[in-house]
Amino acid sequence: QPPAILPAISKMTSTTQGYAAHAKDTPLVPFTFERRAPLPTDVSIDILFSGICHSDIHTARSEWAGTTYPCVPGHEIVGRVSHVGDKVTKYKVGDTVGVGCMVGSCHACDACSKDLEQYCSKSVFTYNSQQHGENTKGGYSKHIVVDESFVVRIPSNLPLDACAPLLCAGITVYSPLAHWKVSAGQRVGIVGLGGLGHMAVKIAKAMGAEVTVFSTSANKVESALKLGATSVVISKDKNALAAVAGKFDVILDTVSQDHDLLFDQLKIDGLYIVVGIPETPYTLPAGRLIFGRRSLAGSLIGGIKETQDMLDFCSKHNIISDIELVKADYINTAYERVLKSDVKYRFVIDASTF
Ligand code: NAP
Ligand code: ZN
Repeated sequence: QPPAILPAISKMTSTTQGYAAHAKDTPLVPFTFERRAPLPTDVSIDILFSGICHSDIHTARSEWAGTTYPCVPGHEIVGRVSHVGDKVTKYKVGDTVGVGCMVGSCHACDACSKDLEQYCSKSVFTYNSQQHGENTKGGYSKHIVVDESFVVRIPSNLPLDACAPLLCAGITVYSPLAHWKVSAGQRVGIVGLGGLGHMAVKIAKAMGAEVTVFSTSANKVESALKLGATSVVISKDKNALAAVAGKFDVILDTVSQDHDLLFDQLKIDGLYIVVGIPETPYTLPAGRLIFGRRSLAGSLIGGIKETQDMLDFCSKHNIISDIELVKADYINTAYERVLKSDVKYRFVIDASTF
């Protein structure tokens, strides 16, 4: 009788439990699937917490077209390293780490060489992308396998559940605020007080700016001020909007749906940055840019080095997300509440409940 040959651990796939959407118009349901066998440069992570981003909803419902089902969303991941491949140098078993919106890129192009992997034409998103011959599956699960160059270190002074949203919401607003050098003496407007918006208020304030929130929700005024805003403008109120015309150096728009862009509120030479990605494209009121020599820009998440910089910035300034911690079976309810702007300010799933 020949001895049984056990496959090397790195050759083995692993079974994990999560939640998946199987079609654009059905709720997410429990889903068991295989993670790939770790490669020598891979880190296996036991997921602890996973944030719910509005992009998860856009994708689960195929609002941007092209969703491959089953779709396991989730790109705000915090967990512990459970295994490292032979060639992993940055992490060891037991480290507390994060994974955001990307899990791969070409490492060779101009964008990658500038630490801008998010703009690499071959970048691989954490879910609903192709990598190693399969459709990537995200953080709504107990376990994930990721190349170490797309893993970041979670600072030890921040609570892990409230840290998860930094991996997408945090970096998506930090990147443009840092790139366009928001600083003391500037007036910054944040449009939409949801997951991204509330992080933008905290980060812009920590960068020294005076922050005004533009919100459609009158019931968020008090908490906007607590988050660090100096004032709040209810954007449905035309008089209130008119009263702040021409006042802002920078406006960062985080709204998830089509709506009027607030160009009139910018100063001459002011900058309007959109990060929200509505299902239907915006109409561009060109005259309102032209009369004021204003600029319009967009920004996509942030590179991996910048994500680590953002985490270190948040560690230094004690910035975390305001979260509502939920169980996996609450995901569909959470989606409905996000769509009603009823979120203060990020749902985070306890991954032990998958
Ligand atoms: P969210 O939590 O749903 O926040 C969006 C906020 O926008 C809402 O809370 C609401 O705030 C406001 N809003 C909603 N509908 C509106 C409408 N019709 N008119 C005006 N305001 C409205 O979403 P999120 O997770 O922060 O994501 C926001 C958007 O950014 C999504 O489209 C997402 O896909 C996108 N995103 C982009 C990137 C990137 O790299 N560029 C990264 C992540 C996410 P008020 O109640 O204060 O009005
Ligand atoms: Zn996101």
